[in-house]
Amino acid sequence: MRPTAIQISKSRRVLVIPWDDGHLSEYPFDGLRAACPCVTCRGGHEAMGAPPDPNVFALAPQQTYELAGADLVGNYALQPLWEDGHHYGLYTWDYLRGLCPCAECRARRGGRPTGAG
Ligand SMILES: [Zn+2]
Ligand SMILES: [Zn+2]
Repeated sequence: MRPTAIQISKSRRVLVIPWDDGHLSEYPFDGLRAACPCVTCRGGHEAMGAPPDPNVFALAPQQTYELAGADLVGNYALQPLWEDGHHYGLYTWDYLRGLCPCAECRARRGGRPTGAG
């Protein structure tokens, strides 16, 4: 499973990824940053490799972040560049797809349909 494009909508503050299976994922910036898989954001090496947690998109953001751009890393990951200079997170395709906050993906994972809780 791979993206066919990487689109950043600064007006809507979402990263949009159309996948090669026809699925479309939209990641609000704040949740995307909250899910940053880098060692600093995870709080240490022992927390690395944690599975993606789409619930970050249901939480009220602690802080707002703006996405300045995103680079492709090889053929397997996306490296977002944030306007505060943070650019250490490598979001693999599997991680991004697992993070997809759309209703369809949430339902498939068996998650709650609303973010209440
Ligand atoms: Zn990070
Ligand atoms: Zn989805």
